[in-house]
Amino acid sequence: MKASPEKACVFCGQPPEEKTKEHVVPLWVMKLTGDEKRKAFFGVHYANGPENLQVRQHAFSSYTLPACKTCNDAFAVLEAFAKRVVEKLLAEQPLTAADVEVLLDWLDKVRVGLWIAGRTLGTNIFRASQPRFFVGQRVRWADRWARITLLPDGGQGLTYAGVGTPMFGSMPSAFAIRINRLIIQNASSPRMLTRWLGLPYPEMTRKRTPDGTIYFSKLCFGKNRLLPGLMDFPKPFAGLEVMQPAYPFDLNDCERPFRNPYVQAFFADLATLRAKPLLATRTEIRAINEIGPHEYELMKQPFHPSIPHWFSSSALVLQNYVSEVGLVGGPPATEKDHKRLLKLMNDLRHVNRAFLKKMDAQVRDPSKSNDGSVELAQGRRVISI
Ligand SMILES: [Zn+2]
Repeated sequence: MKASPEKACVFCGQPPEEKTKEHVVPLWVMKLTGDEKRKAFFGVHYANGPENLQVRQHAFSSYTLPACKTCNDAFAVLEAFAKRVVEKLLAEQPLTAADVEVLLDWLDKVRVGLWIAGRTLGTNIFRASQPRFFVGQRVRWADRWARITLLPDGGQGLTYAGVGTPMFGSMPSAFAIRINRLIIQNASSPRMLTRWLGLPYPEMTRKRTPDGTIYFSKLCFGKNRLLPGLMDFPKPFAGLEVMQPAYPFDLNDCERPFRNPYVQAFFADLATLRAKPLLATRTEIRAINEIGPHEYELMKQPFHPSIPHWFSSSALVLQNYVSEVGLVGGPPATEKDHKRLLKLMNDLRHVNRAFLKKMDAQVRDPSKSNDGSVELAQGRRVISI
């Protein structure tokens, strides 16, 4: 049974039996970053085109979506673990591989939660259609990646980047979040890692049928070696990259491509295709044992006046990158629908490039800015595009 988007549980999509409210921005994040009842700039109104960006304002604490009690309780466990991991990062305490998995799960939850919020609360231009999936279906659904940066101590604040773009409205595959001095860039998409790690990866393929050509995704054999170009997009500031390949199925569904030692070394549990969390530096990619002092050094970015700009703009650059290397499409589609989807992606990348141009112009002349960057520069708490 389907509920209207305003009434569906954000986690499972069903009408909640015992209704509770899920905060889109978790309460612990609000408390950690300032007064939980504060108002905040929330997204950019872009419907009038990139020349007329306007900042929107919301109260954090009223930003909630409906949820079943059982779903909410289950995800509360993840929130409690995530809180601990974020606190460890801010305090530069060692992290385990399990901590990194928790962080990646949580980023999946927040990213998809913000996307559903945009659809149901009206800050997304694609709001007219019912969300095709909910948070519970998208945690560990596809390859996921995060890049962690620590700034010098610079006060409290919570900022998002990328959640207001039409690209994010179409598919919640990349965004960035800043929690006090911690910046996390995050992306998730099928094929985004696996193809370059040399693992089995999904690819769109086509088949002729009596009714016409059908496009669908199929699993291809990996190259069994690292390929150049893993998450290769411009990164203007320092950061540590962590990642975890993920498939939306079990080994039973598709065993042959996984039957070799190179591939199997990547998995903690082969039957469920649960991969080991990985860490990538300039020189190596390895399974995470511990994130300790050496890795923390790689996260540290000294103060630079362009950091707010880099934070916003690199989220859009990441979105465009992921839309090119990730899998576009999946469910079987006609040739016409598939081509329409590719054209939409192309158009959305174009819009992001227009935003990036506008942002660059605003950096050159801050008096022209109405996207929140002035407030950011003044140390005010901003959620920007
Ligand atoms: Zn539910």
